[in-house]
Amino acid sequence: MGAPKLLTDTRARAAYAEGAGIYRIVPAAVAIPRDVGEVAALARWAAETGTPLVPRGAGSGMPGGNVGSGVVVDLSQGFLQLTVDPERRLARAGASVTCARVNDACRPYGLRLPPDPSSGAFATCGGMVATNAAGPRSVRYGSVRRWVESVEVVDADGNVRTVRRGGGAGPRYPAPDSGYRPHFPRTRKNSSGYALDRFAESGDELDLLIGSEGTLAIITAVQWRLDPIPPDLAGVALGFTDLAALAEAVPFVVSLNPSSVELLDRTLLQHIAEAPPVACLLLIEFERETAAAARAVVGDVVRGLKHALAHVETAVDRAGLDKLWDVRRLASPALARLPASQRSLQVIEDGCVPLERLGDYIAGLRAAAERRGVPVAIFGHAGDGHVHVNALPDTTRAGWREALEGLFADGIDLVIHLGGVPAGEHGAGRLRAGVLERFYGEEMFALFRAVKRAYDPLSILNPGVIIPAADWAPLAALKVGNGAAPIPEDIATRLRDMERNAAWATSKLELTHA
Ligand SMILES: Cc1cc2nc3c(=O)[nH]c(=O)nc-3n(C[C@H](O)[C@H](O)[C@H](O)COP(=O)(O)OP(=O)(O)OC[C@H]3O[C@@H](n4cnc5c(N)ncnc54)[C@H](O)[C@@H]3O)c2cc1C
Repeated sequence: MGAPKLLTDTRARAAYAEGAGIYRIVPAAVAIPRDVGEVAALARWAAETGTPLVPRGAGSGMPGGNVGSGVVVDLSQGFLQLTVDPERRLARAGASVTCARVNDACRPYGLRLPPDPSSGAFATCGGMVATNAAGPRSVRYGSVRRWVESVEVVDADGNVRTVRRGGGAGPRYPAPDSGYRPHFPRTRKNSSGYALDRFAESGDELDLLIGSEGTLAIITAVQWRLDPIPPDLAGVALGFTDLAALAEAVPFVVSLNPSSVELLDRTLLQHIAEAPPVACLLLIEFERETAAAARAVVGDVVRGLKHALAHVETAVDRAGLDKLWDVRRLASPALARLPASQRSLQVIEDGCVPLERLGDYIAGLRAAAERRGVPVAIFGHAGDGHVHVNALPDTTRAGWREALEGLFADGIDLVIHLGGVPAGEHGAGRLRAGVLERFYGEEMFALFRAVKRAYDPLSILNPGVIIPAADWAPLAALKVGNGAAPIPEDIATRLRDMERNAAWATSKLELTHA
């Protein structure tokens, strides 16, 4: 079987020059394989010609793993097969299938894929496994790692194989000696580099491939483990007048086994007219076997935190919860109404710290934003010590780029100081590749390089991602500002609209139509 045709015209290359996140890098070409055979042929051709491949799903990833100067391989179209085996609680999905489609297919059987990335409507199964994606519910159900039973992959040399949970270390990288325990930061979530800690625990190659961001192999299918949908739920919105009170409350809430504990900080709430007048808000959900149990635990939370609360609103069913959650849904439209010059740029958007350092982390982020003169909006997964930060620099102001660089540096220093990791669910990408060694140390990073060499000795697969390029510069190749790579104006406008409307499910070739 031959490799797919390469699209090399200016408009097609421009349509794939951006993903979510900050970068614009025009690829040399685009390939849209229709099946595993074409991916394998493409990998063999890339190895023969020394051409870098940039595996890509919907392009919704933030840290630049989905863009690059080689051949972008669009895996969002050709791998749409999906079957559900309700008896065994498994679903086999092609790499292009979205998270939402998996759940739509499982729901009639009372099953679901528990991690629920907010990008589920467009994130592909390939992209979710490649980034070890997560979501609000991960506080109870973990990241996708726990839910992957097997993956079908194409190796850098074009070999096709299936890698299973319990399948052992595989042929590429040696199994660690028993008793070997790599030193990793103690966070509840981590999508920053190769999961050598998980690999050491399980001895399974699968753990190296999950979260490998297209740098070790190309994923063509995923077999998911499914879980029954819990019958009942209840929730509560809790407002606090100060951050310290919220930070103290979170470990108590987490000890009650919630299914989400989401934070909206005042830096975000100030943009939402309908939000209660509090310094920060927690949106909490409990899934339980009965309505009574769900309501009872909400009561426990409110009673336990009564002394610290400035606002309480409870919900006893799905409709009520949706209403509580409206305030979070209003955040994106509110930010979209900011002046066009105030761009949302994700440079420190995914840090994750040990739960007991959450308050210090948010306070440190607020202080860094103040110091650098870059407004931020902070929100995210408080129950996992993991928050997202939208940096909102005014790109018409002189010095905005230097200020943003300063914020990036401060954010990384802060996470290191607090014993965290730079990415809880988005991945290291290009943006954070050059700082990983500071988090893991020289010895561990040498092992990262060894993993990469074992899988991809010619560095064909997504070079510059996880393992930094020699000229790594995190804030080069921005999609914003004078230095942005030139692409046709109409395509730049459509890419901007796609970003603003989170329309990542759009076929990128549609953007090229005149
Ligand atoms: C509005 C919005 C909300 C978001 N919310 C969440 C959230 O709640 N949780 C979360 O985890 N993320 C979230 N994200 C980030 C993003 O959606 C996830 O990282 C998602 O898993 C990426 O999937 P994708 O198909 O878009 O992959 P892409 O962005 O195309 O790729 C991401 C990375 O995976 C690699 N990759 C993609 N497909 C393959 C493949 N088949 N084989 C090998 N490597 C591959 C790429 O090389 C790249 O490094 C959000 C993004 C947006 C824009």
